[in-house]
Amino acid sequence: MATKRDYYEVLGVSKGASQEEIKKAYRKIAIKFHPDKNPDDPTAEDKFKEAAEAYEVLSDEQKRQRYDQFGHQGMNGGFGGGGGMNMDDIFSQFGDIFGGGGSPFESFFGGGGQTRGGRRTRKGSNLRIKLKLNLEEIANGVEKKIKVKRYVACHVCGGNGAKNGTDMQTCNSCQGSGQVRKVVNTMLGQMVSTATCPTCNGEGRIVTHNCETCHGSGRELQEEVITINVPAGVMDGMQLSMSGKGNVPERGGVPGDLLIQIEEEQHASLKRDGNNVIYDQYISFVDAALGADIEVPTITGKVKINIKPGTQSGEIFRLRGKGIKDINGYGKGDQLIHINVWTPKSLSSDERAKLESLRDSSNFAPHPGKNDKGFFEKVKDYFQ
Ligand SMILES: [Zn+2]
Ligand SMILES: [Zn+2]
Repeated sequence: MATKRDYYEVLGVSKGASQEEIKKAYRKIAIKFHPDKNPDDPTAEDKFKEAAEAYEVLSDEQKRQRYDQFGHQGMNGGFGGGGGMNMDDIFSQFGDIFGGGGSPFESFFGGGGQTRGGRRTRKGSNLRIKLKLNLEEIANGVEKKIKVKRYVACHVCGGNGAKNGTDMQTCNSCQGSGQVRKVVNTMLGQMVSTATCPTCNGEGRIVTHNCETCHGSGRELQEEVITINVPAGVMDGMQLSMSGKGNVPERGGVPGDLLIQIEEEQHASLKRDGNNVIYDQYISFVDAALGADIEVPTITGKVKINIKPGTQSGEIFRLRGKGIKDINGYGKGDQLIHINVWTPKSLSSDERAKLESLRDSSNFAPHPGKNDKGFFEKVKDYFQ
């Protein structure tokens, strides 16, 4: 390993230099040795990197202090053992040094680190589908197999759109990089900026003969069965996404995503309230007065519950754990059974006579006590 030059020496500043002086010095060196400006000088890039590393340390008071105390030894682990900066790191530094806002440096550095390192990877479009689920499927989660039509890479050319997948050549304008350099005159002299190559649209290659199967698009529609694991507890309108299950873009790239919108089918008798399930149970006033065993539907099938003598309209029974699994794994909801006492709407003369004889009974006159007020305050836990 070559011995490193002193960081202060690299930037040409004194040990006591202010942050402003350090920044100024680095700016000067960065412009002088920028690789785009010195294509014929192989040492320029090394000097450029050396300066970037020195600036990285000296511009950070904490790192600078450590460096002052321990020298290069103290920098190990600071940023990957020192000297581990890649060009992307260096370019990302420029934001704070040169700032934005129409300075000549913006065009000089041509879009910063993102487009550096060659061609941009294109992403295909997302595919959207709706998925209807019933309450039973939502309550415990479900595996669904659905058919989708999506663009996949052409099976003949492999996705690049060229005949046999090979009938193409490197773009002459950009030599395959997908980017071209433009010389711009600025107040600092001639600068080089990069832009997407207009000849190949940034693809870096030109197809000489189109693939006959996909006519050069590089993709074809395919029907595919996709298995979706729907977690328990999803809600109407919620969107699930499966990455990479959307369309591939034309002439190669990564596929988009499959976006699945959940639609909740209404249950015939059960209503959903968050993770709880509500059921309205009507009972006759005879059953309410004398008590009865009744069956109620739940997500997992019918369940018997006992109505005690003297049950009031508006009482609520709770079946613990008979609701919907929480989507974040926080347990399970309950089923709440709302009791409604049904009043007969028509009576035979015999029934009427029997009820008339009870009209004056003091037991039939309402006399709610402390425990009978407020329908929804009275939830009875009902254990199986
Ligand atoms: Zn093809
Ligand atoms: Zn090109």
